[in-house]
Amino acid sequence: MIDSKTLADRIEDLLPQTQCTKCGYPACRPYAEAVANGEANYNQCPPGGAEGIARLAALLGKPVIPLNSANGVERPRPLAVIDEQVCIGCTLCMQACPVDAIVGAPKQMHTVIAELCTGCDLCVPPCPVDCIAMPSVTGEATGWDAWSEDQADAARERHNRREARLAREREAAEARAAARRAASSTPAQARETGASATPTVPATDSAEAKKRAIIQAALERARQKKEELAAKGQGPQNTERVSADVQAQIDAAEARRRRLGLAADNTAGNSDIPPTKR
Ligand code: SF4
Ligand code: SF4
Ligand code: SF4
Repeated sequence: MIDSKTLADRIEDLLPQTQCTKCGYPACRPYAEAVANGEANYNQCPPGGAEGIARLAALLGKPVIPLNSANGVERPRPLAVIDEQVCIGCTLCMQACPVDAIVGAPKQMHTVIAELCTGCDLCVPPCPVDCIAMPSVTGEATGWDAWSEDQADAARERHNRREARLAREREAAEARAAARRAASSTPAQARETGASATPTVPATDSAEAKKRAIIQAALERARQKKEELAAKGQGPQNTERVSADVQAQIDAAEARRRRLGLAADNTAGNSDIPPTKR
């Protein structure tokens, strides 16, 4: 049987598939392609470590060379662990995870599915409250001694599924934007051609427009009400004397802000995000 795999395919088969980007490429596949066409060296993958370099060297018929330290070090495999008491549910870690190993919903606590985490570290930098730790979970074992072929295959499949889903979502968003543009240009075209303008706005766009109009009207009513009260000298009253319930809510929010190290910066615009992360 003829092996129809390209060199890039065969290189990719030897990579650990953590999708960590430490090789300097956005994922394992682009690195495999770069090695295949001579753009990248075969010693740039820290998760594969020395064993990974030896595998690639054998495939390429080249000598075994040390890992390029500019790409990182070979180390025991870490696992992402979220401090659920501190997580503010911003979803940034979910968006960064290349293998969909994090579950959660906006404004709710997030958690890592340990079996799916590749230890890539990519969820750590975006977290605005630094509540993701990366403890090692493989003792002294590093590289391919800390990661199996099955785990690599599963990570690759999950990454590919995620990429396909993101591509579908992008296409759908582009299609919606194109439909909106077409709908908004229809009346002008109709005027130019003298044709009667038959609205062709998709149902979802029409629903969104209706929702926007309702919100706009509500905002306008609130603005008018505020102006009326201000004209009668009945603007916001002294907010220092609040009820016990409201004070308890304020105290709880302040305690949370102190716990997150945000209390000293309560005059800034977005008080949920530390200054260093804005
Ligand atoms: S495991 Fe990380 S460093 Fe290795 S090829 Fe994949 S993305 Fe690059
Ligand atoms: S949970 Fe974090 S460390 Fe684990 S795979 Fe996802 S982004 Fe990488
Ligand atoms: S990035 Fe941090 S705060 Fe945001 S959802 Fe993830 S763990 Fe929670």
